[in-house]
Amino acid sequence: MQFHLDGFQPGDPEIADPTARIQASGAAGAVPTEVDVLIVGCGPAGLTLAAQLAQFPDIKTCIVEQKPGRLLVGQADGIACRTMEMFHAFGFSERVLKEACWVNETTFWKPDERWPEKIIRSGRVQDVEDGLSEFPHVILNQARIHDGFLDIMRKAPAKLEPHYSRRLLDLHVDPAAGTSDHAVTVRLERVDAGNEGKVETIKARYVVGCDGARSTVRKSIGRELHGDSANHAWGVMDVLAVTDFPDIRFKSLIQSAKDGSLLIIPREGGYMARLYVELAKLDVGERVANRNITADDVIAKAQRILKPHTLEVKEIAWWSVYEIGQRLTDKFDDVPEAEIDTRLPRIFIAGDACHTHSPKAGQGMNVSMQDAFNLGWKLATVLRKQCAPSLLHSYSAERQAVAKELIDFDREWSGILASAAKAGGADAAKTQDYFVKHGRYTAGTATHYRASVLTGATSHQHLAEGFAIGTRFHSAPVIRLGDAKQVHLGHASQADGRFRIYAFSPAEDPAAAGSAIRALCNFLTEARESPVRRYTPVGADIDSVIDLRAVFQQDHRQLAIEAMPSLLLPPKGRYGLLDYEKMFCRDPKSGHDVFDMRGIDRKAGCMVVVRPDQYVATVLPLGDFAGLASYFDGFLLQAN
Ligand SMILES: Cc1cc2nc3c(=O)[nH]c(=O)nc-3n(C[C@H](O)[C@H](O)[C@H](O)COP(=O)(O)OP(=O)(O)OC[C@H]3O[C@@H](n4cnc5c(N)ncnc54)[C@H](O)[C@@H]3O)c2cc1C
Repeated sequence: MQFHLDGFQPGDPEIADPTARIQASGAAGAVPTEVDVLIVGCGPAGLTLAAQLAQFPDIKTCIVEQKPGRLLVGQADGIACRTMEMFHAFGFSERVLKEACWVNETTFWKPDERWPEKIIRSGRVQDVEDGLSEFPHVILNQARIHDGFLDIMRKAPAKLEPHYSRRLLDLHVDPAAGTSDHAVTVRLERVDAGNEGKVETIKARYVVGCDGARSTVRKSIGRELHGDSANHAWGVMDVLAVTDFPDIRFKSLIQSAKDGSLLIIPREGGYMARLYVELAKLDVGERVANRNITADDVIAKAQRILKPHTLEVKEIAWWSVYEIGQRLTDKFDDVPEAEIDTRLPRIFIAGDACHTHSPKAGQGMNVSMQDAFNLGWKLATVLRKQCAPSLLHSYSAERQAVAKELIDFDREWSGILASAAKAGGADAAKTQDYFVKHGRYTAGTATHYRASVLTGATSHQHLAEGFAIGTRFHSAPVIRLGDAKQVHLGHASQADGRFRIYAFSPAEDPAAAGSAIRALCNFLTEARESPVRRYTPVGADIDSVIDLRAVFQQDHRQLAIEAMPSLLLPPKGRYGLLDYEKMFCRDPKSGHDVFDMRGIDRKAGCMVVVRPDQYVATVLPLGDFAGLASYFDGFLLQAN
């Protein structure tokens, strides 16, 4: 898609009338007085969480934001492959794929050894290694990501709209309240014209602070961000410009001999580019605002770095100057480490409220959304009484460790970028090596949750080497048995709070009387210990809590769907219509065999259990019914 040719216009580029793209949204009237979850902040973290909770009409959620309306321009723009996988689960990856700029290759530029005042291209790499994800790394304005989530929220069963112009003043937890009480009292101040200063009070079971780096929620629970004091000022600018720099449509890392580094990010629409310009080293404790840096300063610096190429900026769509700071808080909820066994969390923080990153590693927005995806399903299962509230401790435990690892990576990466210029660009090869080596971090696929009640031991990992326990379920193409359509196995996972069991069959006929798949289905349908029987509420669809999928080694034409166990062709809904989308086969036509691609033991088969946030929970032998039951018994609550 090409757009922004005659000037930048915020909003949906498919709407021809630019004024219609930015129409006001948001909930009218007062905020509710009592909710299950109050989310503070409409950034990527808050909106991801709201979109997740909006899937459950029985959960009452409210999201508030101090700004008067939705974001229209600026802030982050890099969307990691892993985030695209999550967008698919929410149902808007196709739209992002269409509108975004795809990062295919990254180029590296350094000073010419003979004429160091000129830069030359020193390297070029594929941006994302082959096979890392079925989705590309893309670039799209954060504002459009917000729009995607707002749309999902609006269309979801709980029909959620943010309440804008509400600033969180303070919050208070009643220590004597029971687990199901609305124990948190929150005061909000209205900041919209005509209502300024009015105070509204909400009582909530849980409050989630998605209120950014200066989070009031974080301060209210006595937590602080620790880490580097920022010491590098960077300018960031979205421009429509005419240039003879040939790689303007590539992500380009440019190191000049004397003027520092420049990172070019090609942007959506085919004409716009983002410039990250290294500006100045700050004194300890100095704020960049004190330098009075102007847009012209940023452009002039970019022009010097790009020499001998020209850069004529025609329009600035957005710009900002900021300091880099990699900071982290020690815990993401209100329960001190020493009280984990005796207290349950009521207040959580997510996103920039608990960690900040240098934008050059492209992590801030991506990690913030993944925090919220991790917390969302947990809150939903607890509120819907499917899990005990102690499960909520796992949010901070899992996400704090991930954030720490990323910040260590981010610090190293920012240091390399900043110091490369100091070395006169001599570190270009090191920069390129590091970029390739750490591609998995930037793609968001390096996250690895440690063993816990949710993440099983690695005793049976050898049965499916390619589905590493604790990492995200790495999708692969398969053929759907019911209609011979080529689909992605991982796309069975929607952001609907359900667990999935992928049962990979041995080579035998799965429909045969004594087959391992049939034995598993019999166990899940009939046994008293079956987690499907134990945790599915009476009257609910059989796959509403745990969704069984089967993958076969045969070609789809060799199998008879009508002979398969009924759990794989289950009647659902008010008419008992059959669900034909539970069974898959390898895809011989395209040469994609999921068994080979993911290292599945063909002789034994296996079960891969996947959490609602798409992470591999455990790998078990196909006949390990006790192991399967014990995994779910570890945290789910009996339904009936
Ligand atoms: C000005 C700016 C420029 C940035 N530029 C880049 C960039 O160039 N590249 C990059 O990768 N990342 C950038 N980032 C970082 C990136 O946007 C964040 O990492 C990401 O948005 C984090 O998401 P979040 O939801 O945690 O927080 P945020 O996006 O910060 O959202 C927090 C929200 O909470 C609201 N809020 C705060 N306090 C209150 C309160 N008391 N009451 C009600 N609402 C409140 C805020 O108004 C805000 O909308 C930038 C961030 C900012 C703020």
